[in-house]
Amino acid sequence: MSPARKKAKIAIYWLGACGGCDSAIVDLGGSLLELAEKVEIVLWPAVLDFKYDRIRSLADNELALTIMSGCVRNSEHREMAELLRAKSRLVLACGACACFGGTPGLANLRQKGEIISWVYGDAPTVVNPEGERPQPTCRVNGTELHLPRFYDHVHALHQSIEVDYYLPGCPPPVDLLLGAISALLNGKLPHRGSTLAPQKPLCDSCPRAASKPARLEIRTIHRCHEVEVDPTDCFLAKGVICLGPATRGGCGGTCLAANTPCRGCFGPVEGVRDAGARFLSSLAALIAPEDDEKLRELLEAIADPAGYGCRFTQPVSILGEQSCADDNEEE
Ligand code: SF4
Ligand code: SF4
Repeated sequence: MSPARKKAKIAIYWLGACGGCDSAIVDLGGSLLELAEKVEIVLWPAVLDFKYDRIRSLADNELALTIMSGCVRNSEHREMAELLRAKSRLVLACGACACFGGTPGLANLRQKGEIISWVYGDAPTVVNPEGERPQPTCRVNGTELHLPRFYDHVHALHQSIEVDYYLPGCPPPVDLLLGAISALLNGKLPHRGSTLAPQKPLCDSCPRAASKPARLEIRTIHRCHEVEVDPTDCFLAKGVICLGPATRGGCGGTCLAANTPCRGCFGPVEGVRDAGARFLSSLAALIAPEDDEKLRELLEAIADPAGYGCRFTQPVSILGEQSCADDNEEE
C-alpha cells in the first residue's frame, strides 16, 4: 500500500452554520498545511468541491474523524449528519451551534410559521407582493426538485446523532481547535463525551477579575453603550451583564480584550445542566435592590433576558429542550 493510501481520512462538514467555524479551521494556517500532509480530507464543502456520492461510497467507519459545525435545522442537515456518523469512527461537534444549537437556536422561541411569515413576508426589507413561499417540491424543465424539510425546532448535533467529543466557541479558538484535532487523530483522548476545553469558568482566567469586588452588589444594569468601562474593569462591577461567572473558560478572552462582555459562547461550566438558569441564579445572587419597585426597574433594564441567558444554548436548555421526536414523526 502506498504511503498516501495509509493517510487517515477526515471530513469537515457544516450543517446549519455561518461558516465561521470553517474560517477558524482555515485560520490554523501553517498547521493546517501540516495537517493536510498527514491526512486525506475527503469532504470540506466550505473550501473545496466534493461529491456526496464519494462519502456514500465509503465503508462504515472508514473516516477517522468528522469535524461537524452548525445546528440541525432541516432534513438535509440530519441526513448528512447521519451519513457522516455512519462513516466516521469519531465525530467532533465543533462550535457553539453544533454543541448547543448556537445563536440559530434562539429561533426556538418562535413558531415555525412565524419565522416563515417574517422571512418571506413581514420583514421590512422583503418585497413579495404575490406572497410566494418556498415549496417542498417543484418542476423545472420536467425534473422534479425537492427542498429539504424545515423542522419545527433547531437541534444541537447530539440531539440528532451520537457525538464523541465537543469543542465549544463561536467559533472555537485556534489553539483549542488544533489541540482537539491533534488529540483526536493521535488517539490521546479523554473519556468519550468530553468537552475539549477547560472546565473552570471564564472569570477564573479573566485579567479583569482583579477589579471584581469580593462582595459584588449590582444596583443598576447598563447596556454596553450606556457606560464607559475601562479595559481593566470587571463588567459586572460596572453593572454591565457579563456571563463570565457562568461560562466555561478557554476562549482566550477575545471579546473581553475588545472591551466587550462575555456572551457565553463556550456554554455552561462542567457539571452545569443549563447555562441560562445558571446565569440567572448567579445574577440574582448579586442583585441588591432597595425595594420591589427598584427590583422591577432593574430587571426591566435587561433588554433581552432570553438573548442574554440562552444566546448560544436554547435548544439544550431545560426550558427549551425539544426532543427530535416531533420532527422525526413528520419524516
Ligand atoms: S458556532 Fe459561531 S462561528 Fe460556528 S457556525 Fe455557529 S455561529 Fe458560526
Ligand atoms: S464577570 Fe466578566 S469581566 Fe468580570 S471577571 Fe468575570 S469574565 Fe471578567
